[in-house]
Amino acid sequence: MAQLDLRELHSTEFPVPDEMQGNVAITSLSKLYNWSRRSSMWPMLFGLACCAIEMIATAASRYDLSRFGMEVMRASPRQSDLMIVSGTVTKKMVVPIVRLYNQMPEPKYVLAMGACASGGGPFKEGYNVVSGIDQYLPVDVYVPGCPPTPQALLYGLIALQKKIDGQSLANMDDVPWYGVGPAEPTPVPILGPDIIDPRQMDLIRRQAELAAQGKPYGLREIPESALKRQTAQIAPKTKPQIAAASGTVEADDPEKAARLAKREAALARKKAESGETAAASVVADAPAPATGGDKKAFDKAAMLEKIRAKKAK
Ligand code: SF4
Repeated sequence: MAQLDLRELHSTEFPVPDEMQGNVAITSLSKLYNWSRRSSMWPMLFGLACCAIEMIATAASRYDLSRFGMEVMRASPRQSDLMIVSGTVTKKMVVPIVRLYNQMPEPKYVLAMGACASGGGPFKEGYNVVSGIDQYLPVDVYVPGCPPTPQALLYGLIALQKKIDGQSLANMDDVPWYGVGPAEPTPVPILGPDIIDPRQMDLIRRQAELAAQGKPYGLREIPESALKRQTAQIAPKTKPQIAAASGTVEADDPEKAARLAKREAALARKKAESGETAAASVVADAPAPATGGDKKAFDKAAMLEKIRAKKAK
């Protein structure tokens, strides 16, 4: 459990006599509130990939997360203040992650642990991986590394504590959960053929309309030169006729046709060469056997005679 040290709360404006430092604190409400929150953060108990092993190591006895008052990892989002996103966020998993985040009560914080959670890591742009959890949730602290060491995670947690220390109850931007009315839940992404962010629905609809009209669409403007190239690729191609050794080859792709022609030529050359070699070997073995053909007939009597002569020596 976090150690209770009243000196952390002292305000420099109101000096407290030395002999009373351990018993009396004159401080502001914000400071007291922040101190109590940051000294008893309960992280949510869940891990996504290899980074989670380092998170577990951080909670174990060697690194001892309890020094920060964070040893109580909760298996329920309703009792958690901190979501440590430790590992690769796949498109399938981002849906329950956002749902769990919505179920956490305010004030709540998110720590992206490792390269994967921060920006996709080694799997960035992968067909099934989200390029960082910050595309869906507000991240407070990023811890770099693949995986980050327990020391790095502790450093990230201390950075989060410092961030909480800097918040003020008087500033609604710092503590929006005290605002008027219920907080808006973060829209939960939809998993279809690909992941869909409901916040981008208008943009997706606009792009779909453009696509239906056959117009170019996309987030970035396509340069004119690229557009020309695209149109040229779409235009139907005439199938080139390529004369090859075996006849005429028809191909959709000129490169493929050239490759085919090359292969045919090489085959023909090989055939011609092997024919010449066979002829040459027949000439070398002359006189040709009476039976004809390239192969000499097996003469059993001659072979036995040879063996006998060898043995006699
Ligand atoms: S950052 Fe590295 S260690 Fe962490 S989940 Fe990704 S691949 Fe695994």
